[in-house]
Amino acid sequence: MRVDCKHVWEHISAYIDGDVDAALRADIDKHLETCEICSAVLDSTRNVVVLVADGRVFELPAGFSHRLHERLEAELQSRET
Ligand SMILES: [Zn+2]
Repeated sequence: MRVDCKHVWEHISAYIDGDVDAALRADIDKHLETCEICSAVLDSTRNVVVLVADGRVFELPAGFSHRLHERLEAELQSRET
């Protein structure tokens, strides 16, 4: 299966969490090898995840995945309680 950039972005947070199946992971890996845009997205997404793990406040890059944003907000709220 061929993945395009949008497809990678939809799954990027699950990809970082190791939450995608092996076939999809392999497709994304292959795409990342040849796509500078998605490599940059992956890097910045990882940076965001690291900041959350540190318990720091952060801003998501403009236009970023709504799903990821929701997920991060839920995570921050669960830390406060
Ligand atoms: Zn791409």
